Amino acid sequence: MKITSEAIGNFYPFAKQVYLHEMKWKDAIDHAEAAGWLNRSSAHNIVQNYRMMREGKGYNRTLNVEATLELIRLIGDDLGKEAFTLAISAARQHIVYYADQPNGRYQQTLSEKLTELESSYEIAQFGTDYPDEISGQSRLFEGAKKAVVVNSYERNPTARRKCIEHYGRVCTVCDFRFFAKYGKLGEKFIHVHHEKDLAEVGEEYGVDPINDLKPVCPNCHAMLHQKRPAYTIEELKEIIASVAT
Ligand SMILES: [Zn+2]
Ligand SMILES: [Zn+2]
Repeated sequence: MKITSEAIGNFYPFAKQVYLHEMKWKDAIDHAEAAGWLNRSSAHNIVQNYRMMREGKGYNRTLNVEATLELIRLIGDDLGKEAFTLAISAARQHIVYYADQPNGRYQQTLSEKLTELESSYEIAQFGTDYPDEISGQSRLFEGAKKAVVVNSYERNPTARRKCIEHYGRVCTVCDFRFFAKYGKLGEKFIHVHHEKDLAEVGEEYGVDPINDLKPVCPNCHAMLHQKRPAYTIEELKEIIASVAT
């Protein structure tokens, strides 16, 4: 199975949660396979390489060039410049490791592409707060595995990027614009809320970044999660309207 950037985007939050000890390796790999994103050995390699990239250490499991670059971009989008630099360094160390292997072309291509990525990539910081940090109790209420899985939809950097590209960085509930208030500092900041009910979501569900995700400001995001299942965006708008009149 070829590893696509979409598959990496879907799987990214799982690799991250394994790294943070929030999910077991086996659960992450089972999920990747059940959802049809990756075969087990690719999922295993990504979890392993993700860990090494976060720590800036050379890894020895080879991923194709595109997949490697996508993983590095996702780390940059998710965690910022320092993490991006560590991930690049891990990939460079991998090339050194790979120097002993027969395929010199891979080594050459990856090296060139890393240099290109370093000079062209602009960190897209979408905000690093997630609803489970706003309301740390979600896991007590829902089946633990399911809650972690659903949570990962709001953490999927590819889906977040598509959602924000579509709607812009404007709160869907209250119209707050970070740029208008904070200027350049707030230019790239926004939360993304996953609107679909846990009950509607099955194992094979793939997030639809435009229908299921909406950009929201952190205040509205926290208010949406004041009940379970969350208030809908419409309900919260009505609440705001009823207070204002
Ligand atoms: Zn808002
Ligand atoms: Zn949310």
